[in-house]
Amino acid sequence: MASETGKQVVTRFAPSPTGFLHIGGARTALFNWLYARHHGGKVLLRIEDTDRKRSTQDAIDKIIEGLDWLGLDFDEPPVFQSDRAERHAEVARQLLDAGHAYKCYASPEELEDMRAQQRANKQPMRYDRRWRDRDESEAPQGAPYVIRLKVPTEGETVIHDKVQGKVTVKNAEIDDYVLLRADGTPTYMLAVVVDDHDMGVTHIIRGDDHLNNAFRQLPIIRAMNEIEGGWPDPVYAHAPLIHGADGAKLSKRHGAVGVEAYRDEEGVLPEALFNYLLRLGWGHGDREEITREEAIELFDLDGVGKSPSRFDIKKLQNLNSHYIREADDARLASLVAGKLGDTAEVALLTKAMPVLKTRARTVNELVEGAAFLFKSRPLEMTEKAAALLDDEGRARLAGLSVRLAKENHWTIEALEATTKSYAEELDLGLGKLAQPMRAALTGTTTSPGIFDVLVLLGKEESLARIDAQASLAG
Ligand code: GLU
Repeated sequence: MASETGKQVVTRFAPSPTGFLHIGGARTALFNWLYARHHGGKVLLRIEDTDRKRSTQDAIDKIIEGLDWLGLDFDEPPVFQSDRAERHAEVARQLLDAGHAYKCYASPEELEDMRAQQRANKQPMRYDRRWRDRDESEAPQGAPYVIRLKVPTEGETVIHDKVQGKVTVKNAEIDDYVLLRADGTPTYMLAVVVDDHDMGVTHIIRGDDHLNNAFRQLPIIRAMNEIEGGWPDPVYAHAPLIHGADGAKLSKRHGAVGVEAYRDEEGVLPEALFNYLLRLGWGHGDREEITREEAIELFDLDGVGKSPSRFDIKKLQNLNSHYIREADDARLASLVAGKLGDTAEVALLTKAMPVLKTRARTVNELVEGAAFLFKSRPLEMTEKAAALLDDEGRARLAGLSVRLAKENHWTIEALEATTKSYAEELDLGLGKLAQPMRAALTGTTTSPGIFDVLVLLGKEESLARIDAQASLAG
């Protein structure tokens, strides 16, 4: 399927490496990916690594790893913006030669004076176009210069943004910004436009913090289209940024903002984050649970909301518990084993998963729930568990141990029947017996059903744990 412009859809995600994949960036990537997949187009990745200090290999790897974890694949190898400086400079020269750009010889001191004056006069702080109409003959001999874009000063620029609607800016408000620095290096604004064109990008879907940039980028596109043709306006869609619960732009002070933190610290599954990020700013009726396949089928730009959505960890956890219940047991077992370390057995975890996963909202909670399986004797007790193992509790365990030892069928039904009849013998509610059992078997006061615990631990280990506590009875 092609876009409404009749061409194959090409979208891109263009992160600047900052050390991790930001939740907001991940959502932008997701929207670009879904739009391309929905239209049978292409989605590309461009690493905007022109800030060499921040763009370490590690920062780049983290972004690629985060995207990969979310299952967002790209149709071509990544483009590195820093590799393309010569091409960016070439376009700046073309604009210069065609009269759409000019050399500016203003020194940094001169520009500082200009800004100080503007500040004093309470004027907007903007380059005053002092070299725009000067003749080359006025240029100081051999002095360094920058190349600035000659932005039309009359009229206005209109963008029919797919999310924001019609947005108009007076051209006089757009400054003649620098395209090429005095040392010949391109600016970010030029690089983005040239790369988008050369990568054949048809749809630019990104955060609305870039809406102002669109008005600065379009004059380059239009000038190049005039010069050589083949530079159509892209379709723009600027999605509102994600906010925190307090309504302020999502930042570190709201907690984790990196995708890897949700994976590692919060124990979120990729399909849950995928679904959550999709719903964060895009809706299809009141559907909450939407699979990857459904998302590809349903996604469009009309469904992207105009007002910022608030990040809600509770909603993410709810979706996560849904996806945990849906997930394959062996897969969850190996995730949990990875977090538990060497002592964990994947086979036992897989067997335990059906009872563990009904109780967990996160992989971390699965880990907590599974920990009892691999504890070594004598079990370390939480304070509450220790309190249940008073003389009375231990005496009950001792009696129970004798009966369980005779059990030939180590099944939930048989164990339940035996335990119940012993409780009746003692004239106790089942809970009064189950509580010290839980303490002895798990070292805690919360666990899956006590008969599930017995079955998962097996007869030998269960009795050994019970006896280790019962034998201490005074
Ligand atoms: N590199 C920019 C960012 O990380 C995005 C540029 C764009 O999408 O045009 O915010």
